[in-house]
Amino acid sequence: MKIIIVGAGISGCVCANRLAMAGHAVTLIEKGRGVGGRMSTRRMNGARIDHGAQFFTARDPRMKDLVQDWVAQGIVVPWYDQVPGREDIPKSIRFRGINGMTAPAKRLAESFSFEKEFFVDSIYFDEEWQINEKEGGNRRLLADHLVLTMPVPQMLELFQRSQFELESKVMDQLEAVRYTRCLALLGILNKPSVLSDPGTITHPVPDVDWISDNQVKGISVVPSCTVHAANDYSQKFWDSPNEGGPYLVKVAEECLQSKITEWSCHRWGFAKPLVTFGANQYTSAWDRLSLAGDSFGGERIENAAMSGWDAAQAILDLG
Ligand SMILES: Cc1cc2nc3c(=O)[nH]c(=O)nc-3n(C[C@H](O)[C@H](O)[C@H](O)COP(=O)(O)OP(=O)(O)OC[C@H]3O[C@@H](n4cnc5c(N)ncnc54)[C@H](O)[C@@H]3O)c2cc1C
Repeated sequence: MKIIIVGAGISGCVCANRLAMAGHAVTLIEKGRGVGGRMSTRRMNGARIDHGAQFFTARDPRMKDLVQDWVAQGIVVPWYDQVPGREDIPKSIRFRGINGMTAPAKRLAESFSFEKEFFVDSIYFDEEWQINEKEGGNRRLLADHLVLTMPVPQMLELFQRSQFELESKVMDQLEAVRYTRCLALLGILNKPSVLSDPGTITHPVPDVDWISDNQVKGISVVPSCTVHAANDYSQKFWDSPNEGGPYLVKVAEECLQSKITEWSCHRWGFAKPLVTFGANQYTSAWDRLSLAGDSFGGERIENAAMSGWDAAQAILDLG
């Protein structure tokens, strides 16, 4: 069967990998230049910086198996198991990519074909699926089964552009999905920070969720930091991120005891789901359409990955 998956985040990559391993002809389409989605690693003045998700967990036995393979292949390593200063949070191993968080998606992508810089503008179903690139590009692909894995608000925009709807009960569930936003500040430090292993601080002030030192983390030779603002702060400065940046710089400099010599602020419009769909994935045998991602599985890389896995299984079960 010819299967197209849209979105090269972890859910799309796991789904594509499962279906390709089962012998299907799988193509994964992504609007960006590479795989990973919110598991994103950026280069900035020689530094390597995890920009979105910082680590992942493995609780589900299927995720444990995947992670065990990645560890054996040397692309993933355990990072830490106890949040510094937060003994109240139960111990659980957090993993990271060896050269940044994109590593697992890159490995999975070796098993299927990949169309990058392909923004899916519209989809159309008439016995088979037609997937159309945004104006300016001329790619048009056909598939027997289509899987969408972007955050649901972006899925709904695609439905609207395509004048496509599912049954009203499903549309109601999709329309209820809500996400947080996150302003992420990436900074270059003038010297190594004072943080010791694992190089992270959570919630140093109410407006900041996370600060990490990518050098202590082990992915950057150049001292550099990632700062994630809390949802309320991110909402407040959403339309003027450069005005929100200086306060994040000040908090990070105090925590890290290093000066930030250069910084840039980025916006994650759909950071983490607050309200999810209510099932781990959705598959319609009638339309030959599946929907997956963290809007379905829930917050966390692991849950997004298992949503992609479940969608693949639902497609295999259709026969
Ligand atoms: C700042 C931040 C910090 C986080 N920290 C953690 C953490 O430490 N641990 C953890 O477990 N989770 C964390 N998360 C959550 C985690 O990153 C996500 O739950 C997970 O990566 C979601 O994967 P996904 O495949 O569902 O979606 P995504 O990774 O968002 O993948 C969807 C893909 O679809 C593509 N796409 C969208 N629209 C189109 C279109 N029209 N055409 C083509 N392609 C399209 C996008 O470019 C994207 O690559 C964090 C998230 C953020 C933003």
